[in-house]
Amino acid sequence: MWLANLACLELHQIHSIAEKSDKPDYIVYDLDPPEEGYTFDKLKEIAFSLKEHLERSNYHVFVKTTGGKGLHLVTPIDAKYSFTECFQCAKKLATDFVNKHPETTLHIKKEHRKGRVLIDIYRNRPSQTIVSPYSLRGRMGATASTPITWEELEGLKELSDWNINTTLERVLTEGDAWESIRGWAVPLHTDKKAQAVKELPPNKKHKTPEQLQEYEEKRDFNKTPEPLLSENETPGSRFVIQRHHASHLHYDLRLEQDGVLKSWAIPRGMPPKPGVKRLAVQTEDHPLKYLTFEGEIPKQEYGGGMMWVYATGRYEITKTKKEGFYFRLSGKQVSAEYRMHLMKGKEWLLERVDSPQQDFLGNVMKPMLADSAKRVPLGDYEYEVKWDGIRALIYLNEGELKIYSRNLNDITDQFPELNVPEEAFRINNAIFDCEIVCLDSDGKADFKKVIKRLMTKKNFDRESKRSPAYCYLFDCLYLDGRPLINDPWARRKWWMMDSVRAGETNYRISESMEDGKALFEAAKKLGVEGIIAKRIDGKYTFGKRSNDWIKVKVKETKDCWIIGFTQGDGEREKYFGSLQLAEQKGKNLVYRGRVGTGFDDDMLKQLSKKFSEIITSEKPIEEEAHEEKRTVWLDLVFKCEVEYSMITNNGTFRDPVFKKIIDET
Ligand code: MN
Repeated sequence: MWLANLACLELHQIHSIAEKSDKPDYIVYDLDPPEEGYTFDKLKEIAFSLKEHLERSNYHVFVKTTGGKGLHLVTPIDAKYSFTECFQCAKKLATDFVNKHPETTLHIKKEHRKGRVLIDIYRNRPSQTIVSPYSLRGRMGATASTPITWEELEGLKELSDWNINTTLERVLTEGDAWESIRGWAVPLHTDKKAQAVKELPPNKKHKTPEQLQEYEEKRDFNKTPEPLLSENETPGSRFVIQRHHASHLHYDLRLEQDGVLKSWAIPRGMPPKPGVKRLAVQTEDHPLKYLTFEGEIPKQEYGGGMMWVYATGRYEITKTKKEGFYFRLSGKQVSAEYRMHLMKGKEWLLERVDSPQQDFLGNVMKPMLADSAKRVPLGDYEYEVKWDGIRALIYLNEGELKIYSRNLNDITDQFPELNVPEEAFRINNAIFDCEIVCLDSDGKADFKKVIKRLMTKKNFDRESKRSPAYCYLFDCLYLDGRPLINDPWARRKWWMMDSVRAGETNYRISESMEDGKALFEAAKKLGVEGIIAKRIDGKYTFGKRSNDWIKVKVKETKDCWIIGFTQGDGEREKYFGSLQLAEQKGKNLVYRGRVGTGFDDDMLKQLSKKFSEIITSEKPIEEEAHEEKRTVWLDLVFKCEVEYSMITNNGTFRDPVFKKIIDET
């Protein structure tokens, strides 16, 4: 406010925070291209090489635009080294890099640079500054120094694309690309002592602190895989949240203090946003080794069930109060500030203080799309049936359930049999990716049946009994306060399966299998549409096509415009004989012949009625069509999906079958 009041446009910062002003908490590499004759693409290339170079010494590298011509690469470090130590460390890394990359230099004087990119490490000296993240620049176009992801840098055309108009919007929709930066701090790679401690295997067992007596007494260490004694550990301020599916699913929050982990069980999980309060019951102190414990505790033992590391990182107490404290978690999975308030005995109240920067539950997103392939890809994949129904995302927000179609329409009312959050799930907050299907008597998805359910405008309850829909869940993107989209599929699957109650609801897990070829053969025999291969370590990308998922269809299909119809005869006299088809290829239409089978009576009736309103005298294609004299041309309004065996030499479908009107819901 003070700076705004002074009409201060640009903010430039030193590299440390007030409490530790002589200990920087990051190292910056400022990439400064020459005045002329340098393209942004070349600069990007250098940025990516430097990133890889720094990663080889175990740094995690963040990037931002400067708002000028350059880029800042920033590696977070533990705030315990002097400026001189940090500068020496940066200089060593940069010198190695410049020696291998002759297009770069450490010469600060312009006349010595000779068209090379300056890797400016001199900013890391005391009293030097860099432009702050999100600061505007006093330049043409009001550019802003914008933290971005490496994927965004890859696609970025010009540095000035981040400016007063675009940067704020980016933060509101995508979140802060540097949000978790403090969770990635590491010791300097030249600090041999810190490195050695990290690599030293746990050795001398020392006496269990008295605090851990209760922990020991409750467990039989011949039976549980949980860690036994506290090892010689370097003290710090680490935290872990574990997802613990004991007799009841709950989360355990553990904060490191005085050589042990202070622990709380949180039955309903970490509060996802301000205003939500959660009960936290303090439990016995745990040994530090529990920070990384993951595994199955045998059923009959104390706390029997699965224990997963859900989030981990460092924490700091931000405020202490008479009846509790405020603390901030900084980690790769969770970065947030909370308040812990003692009520009575062991019962505490946990509240989130700050708003999430990216509100997953508040912004409905489009689901991920799959690449397609002709053959089943082999390697690190799992395989699932491709369900032929309505693609949807299920949003569970504090126990309230909403279903959104892939075009973001709320279709919850249509499917009352699926609006059963309590019965179906054992969690309060989540986003699931799924397909809603109706099944035929063989248990195969029947697209026509489910689309009827979607089109129904009333009597939802009656329809849900007459023609029940089932929801096949196949991914989990957010769970109890933590986004999962950057976790590998194998992990998302575990937590998805663990979140659904086995029971009498219409929710099912879409099973995945290891043998893709066998599944594909079975799909062919059963007449299922196809299969999906999912990369085991693949991420989830909202609204984008990715080769982490690959669909392999049993039969080829294409989406085509219906450009006309031929008059029918016999039983079809009142309707039409066949549809004339054309595929959109860029700006052109390519004629694909006619399709005359695959329609049921309802579809014949519905389509002919709709066609009567869009008849045109203009033929939409230039090529000669089959049966042109008997054809009535139509405006380009409807698209349909057609299945076929191959495309003939003259460009038309062989054995085409009408599948469906493209669902534009
Ligand atoms: Mn527990």
